[in-house]
Amino acid sequence: MREIQLWVDENSLDNVFGEIDRLSNECKFNDCTHQHEPECEVKLAVQKGELNKARLVNYFKMKREIEHQKLKEKYNSNRANKIKWQKLKKQ
Ligand SMILES: [Zn+2]
Repeated sequence: MREIQLWVDENSLDNVFGEIDRLSNECKFNDCTHQHEPECEVKLAVQKGELNKARLVNYFKMKREIEHQKLKEKYNSNRANKIKWQKLKKQ
């Protein structure tokens, strides 16, 4: 198996997990997290044995990491903005 980089962005996540991305298009809800939602095609595929559960767990793990990274970036840029404004006010 090919090594997958620990940190990937959302687009490459969809590439690496192409079949999950395709299945999620069929989910009842657009913002389906494939965890608790009814009529979720991803969950159904796992139940039918069409999708490896370990793969889905990996997908969730990567998604969490990306979201965490995004939050961190947002926090950092907010902080940088705040500092910039504080400096401007002092002048
Ligand atoms: Zn779903």
